[in-house]
Amino acid sequence: MRIDLHTHSSVSDGTDTPAELMRNARIAGLDVVGLTDHDTFDGLDEAAAEGALQGVQLVRGMELSCSRQGSSVHLLAYGADPDSPGLATEMARVRDGRLGRLAGVLAKLAALGVPVSEAEVMAQVGDSPSVGRPHIADALIAAGHVIDRQEAFDRFLADGGPAHVPRYTIELERGIELVHQAGGLAVIAHPWGRGRERLLPPSVLGILANDHRLDGIEVDHQDHDADIRRRLRSLADSLGLLPTGSSDYHGVGKLDHDLGCNTTDPEVFYEIQRRLARAESSTNRLPPQTSR
Ligand code: AMP
Ligand code: FE
Ligand code: FE
Ligand code: ZN
Repeated sequence: MRIDLHTHSSVSDGTDTPAELMRNARIAGLDVVGLTDHDTFDGLDEAAAEGALQGVQLVRGMELSCSRQGSSVHLLAYGADPDSPGLATEMARVRDGRLGRLAGVLAKLAALGVPVSEAEVMAQVGDSPSVGRPHIADALIAAGHVIDRQEAFDRFLADGGPAHVPRYTIELERGIELVHQAGGLAVIAHPWGRGRERLLPPSVLGILANDHRLDGIEVDHQDHDADIRRRLRSLADSLGLLPTGSSDYHGVGKLDHDLGCNTTDPEVFYEIQRRLARAESSTNRLPPQTSR
């Protein structure tokens, strides 16, 4: 069984529609796919419907923009209820922040001699509710300023880069709490990718596991080399965290992230399903809301 638990669609900064993603998942020989668009659940129903046609099981996910000490940390949420008020309110704030920073980024790009207009960016965003830097990168490509998204990030948009503007994110501990309140599981995405090892050292991951009931960490991810994967796997083992694996597929938007290039062990996936079933049954046991 081949399980890829972290992918993106055009509902955020991927390039496949949710239905195309599920068709491509079948072609890639996947049995289970987690769709985890940034800060939105909007693609899940379309993906589930196409998944049923393709014989690919959908895991309902989302990648939440969190931060620790001012640096970005991505938190994967599995099986969280989109209507949970706390989570929904915070996700809306994050999406507002994504749009709100756009003018600042565009002013910096203009000053750097690579102007693009808000309309050019919004043409790339389409009807995605989650405006991302990759969309700005796509506008820079369309305007002929860069060749691909990677060049746009390397020259301008990366964290701390000359056109980077911070946006609203959720404190990591609070993000974990909101996901749990929504009945979901919380797994830190690519915890040690792009130099984040110092931000999330073993001691911090230990506190998150023990005091905040973090469920898991992504181990097999393209941003982790073999040594990082080995050390994260042993850390997950000693802390009782579920080790997941994924492609973090973005369609043609990210090179070397083909569907299924990393996968999650079936035993880990079964444990995720067991925990979600438990969360669901404990929600169902709550006394029914009085209705008028
Ligand atoms: P945003 O969601 O707008 O903060 O942009 C973050 C997204 O841009 C991530 O989810 C990745 O898809 C992509 N990204 C972030 N940093 C880089 C980087 N250094 N190189 C390439 N892509 C990146
Ligand atoms: Fe992304
Ligand atoms: Fe991420
Ligand atoms: Zn991702």
